[in-house]
Amino acid sequence: MGRGRITGLAVSDVRFPTSLAHHGSDAMHPDPDYSAAYVVLETDAPDGLKGYGLTFTLGKGTEVVVCAVNALAVHVVNKDLDEIISDFRGFYRQLTSDGQLRWIGPEKGVVHLATAAVLNAIWDLWAKKEGKPLWKLLVDMDPKQLLSCIDFRYITDALTEEEAYIILQNGLVGKTEREEQLLKHGYPAYTTSCAWLGYPDQQLKQLCSDALKDGWTRFKVKVGADLQDDIRRCKLVREMIGPENILMLDANQRWEVEEAIEWVTKLAEFRPLWIEEPTSPDDILGHATISKALAPLGIGVATGEQCHNRVIFKQLLQAKALSYVQVDSCRLGSVNENLSVLLMAKKFQIPVCPHAGGVGLCELVQHLIIFDYISVSGSLDNRMCEYVDHLHEHFKYPVVIRNASYVPPKAPGYSSEMKEDSARRYQFPQGEVWQKLLSDTAKIS
Ligand SMILES: [Mg+2]
Repeated sequence: MGRGRITGLAVSDVRFPTSLAHHGSDAMHPDPDYSAAYVVLETDAPDGLKGYGLTFTLGKGTEVVVCAVNALAVHVVNKDLDEIISDFRGFYRQLTSDGQLRWIGPEKGVVHLATAAVLNAIWDLWAKKEGKPLWKLLVDMDPKQLLSCIDFRYITDALTEEEAYIILQNGLVGKTEREEQLLKHGYPAYTTSCAWLGYPDQQLKQLCSDALKDGWTRFKVKVGADLQDDIRRCKLVREMIGPENILMLDANQRWEVEEAIEWVTKLAEFRPLWIEEPTSPDDILGHATISKALAPLGIGVATGEQCHNRVIFKQLLQAKALSYVQVDSCRLGSVNENLSVLLMAKKFQIPVCPHAGGVGLCELVQHLIIFDYISVSGSLDNRMCEYVDHLHEHFKYPVVIRNASYVPPKAPGYSSEMKEDSARRYQFPQGEVWQKLLSDTAKIS
């Protein structure tokens, strides 16, 4: 021990031009360039130990998150890793409660995305120092130490530290068997790759057919721009995948509350398991109204990828506003805050089905959901993790999918390290990929 003082923090704006082929397009984000504010923590460890973390963005605005990361750096640089993890709750609170920076949050928006990027890098550093993949670091951790990473402020009316301790103690029963089971079979996944909103029907058909051949049984379709289009596309996908496979819908916040109920009722014949993000992510009572209205149709409400923090999740759970909790590894304040949401979901008996895709979200969130199964929920009923099949090639330890399931990662860390070459070539705007794209655009215009 004693090695690992953080000597420097570098953050870069890494963007992938996914909008060129409509990858990632949905009802509210027609042309995302999947991007990351990418953090590298340097240490004085003799072996050159480094921590890598990121948060996910859609292109423009990544430079704003980069600014916020730089504003937080003062809390991180010159800290010793051991010092941080000996009071991780205190460190989390220091970052999220900076007396001046919290005015531009608190615990939401750009500054919270930046917090996630920084803390993700610290968790990567910690897991690497222990020589374990992050999920295994969490699984092996004593319940008391796990709880010492969580800030329970503002959620004790829904979950106390004592209740969380009992959940983790109960989770010790059968833990070894569940770990062995996951190592053998992986964690079930679903695919969003087939039906982005901007894909023409022929492409959608081809992708569905390919996914079925690869063993996928759970599919998500983007909806919400045009009802007749949605009916046609849902019909097409349901016909392709057959009556037994699972279909989910995602509206990416497109509707008013009443509109959501009417629209989804018209899609009920395709038997979707859930409607994701039907309306504003801040509208807790609106989600509750939609949930209540759609329950008789057997359609649940899922949300979470733009839930600011544990307090919003708490209220969604208290208001019975959702049937599926979609945690995000880069929206919430890293592992620390995700742990509190996993524990609340367990208490309220709502399954967690993480949001993934983007850049690196699959790489990171797999660790959280694997931990959730082994140590918290102990169940795979109604549970699956999102998967999107692009940009993995830019990561040093990309996800491995086998039989439509996530294979638990083995490499030490949080799987958050990008290939050096990719981080350099796609850096905005100076990387060679962007230099070429920008000069081509200049020629056209
Ligand atoms: Mg979504």
